[in-house]
Amino acid sequence: MSSEGADVCLTDMGDTYLAECVTPKGEELLKKMGDLPAADEALETKRQELSDAAEKEVNSSVSCLACGTCTYLCPTCHCFDITDEVKREDGKRIRSWDSCMSWLFTIETSGHNPRPSQKERWRQRLMHKFKYFADNFDAIACVGCGRCVMYCPVNIDIRKIVTDISKL
Ligand code: SF4
Ligand code: SF4
Repeated sequence: MSSEGADVCLTDMGDTYLAECVTPKGEELLKKMGDLPAADEALETKRQELSDAAEKEVNSSVSCLACGTCTYLCPTCHCFDITDEVKREDGKRIRSWDSCMSWLFTIETSGHNPRPSQKERWRQRLMHKFKYFADNFDAIACVGCGRCVMYCPVNIDIRKIVTDISKL
């Protein structure tokens, strides 16, 4: 649990809230609320248990959101989309950035999508970087910059996935 950016941190203890002042501004605010009972050791232990349980829950249940941040920031990702824009006799073929993390990236005109869920899209990203690219160009498509790890909103870590797979 992080209290970064907060003046007061509130923890839901079930039948009450534990309020912790993080900044002088927060302290001032709590003082204005009158004489509040101080937290004892048992309350602090319970707060820590709740915090650990919440962290465990987040780490075990959050999966890829398909936001595309990792592919947008990656210096080796280079996927794109092609669209034709036509105006009377004139037209333009436009290339724009796209991401294999997106559902739309692989959907076919028939409506069939060969990568229907984020599981298949992630597999493709991983295999492209560490298998197909290596087979074709004798190099992996990851320079180890760590941008995807730093900015993934749900903390998916490509290093951990590669390490886990290498143990299979
Ligand atoms: S660590 Fe590898 S996969 Fe992640 S952004 Fe950098 S080059 Fe791309
Ligand atoms: S791995 Fe993370 S950054 Fe990449 S699409 Fe999924 S949620 Fe977004």
